[in-house]
Amino acid sequence: MEDKAFCILSLGSNLGDRKKTIEDAIAVIRENEQIYDLKCASFYETEPVGYLDQPWFLNTCVSFDTTMAPLELFDFVQGIEKDFHRERTIRWGPRTLDIDIITYGDITMDTKRLTLPHPRYRERAFVLVPMSELTDIDVPIPGKRAVRRLDDGI
Ligand code: ATP
Ligand code: CA
Ligand code: CA
Repeated sequence: MEDKAFCILSLGSNLGDRKKTIEDAIAVIRENEQIYDLKCASFYETEPVGYLDQPWFLNTCVSFDTTMAPLELFDFVQGIEKDFHRERTIRWGPRTLDIDIITYGDITMDTKRLTLPHPRYRERAFVLVPMSELTDIDVPIPGKRAVRRLDDGI
């Protein structure tokens, strides 16, 4: 039996019928014969980051096991983005569909096309919150970090 890797993807859309686009994209992922046991988190409306003058996003995450290699999975999700007529002119600007690979097993890699884990996911609530529904992670809550006074009696 081939080895499978546990993966998390982040999906986002802020143009057109956001919910239908994401649901249809997830259906395509689920139907792939190298994808097993796909689970989908709740959908969240999220404020844009980076380029702020654009509609709010709809975001979710999916997890699954796959027999695809990392770059195969990357090509697969890039193909889905293309099929959904993703258009993007501004960095972090509006798009019909964005699919990022957040984690692929415990693989770390940094190539021209693919960096794993995704280099910016730890600072993004729109990834961490849905992701926390699918796997055990500590979601850092801003302002809720432990702060302890040193009892030096100044
Ligand atoms: P961000 O990466 O900050 O979320 P973005 O999703 O808007 O920004 P894109 O234009 O979709 O950025 O992607 C830019 C490039 O990022 C892609 O062409 C791809 O080669 C590269 N990339 C590197 N690592 C990943 C990854 N883990 N998942 C998806 N794309 C990645
Ligand atoms: Ca992204
Ligand atoms: Ca992307």
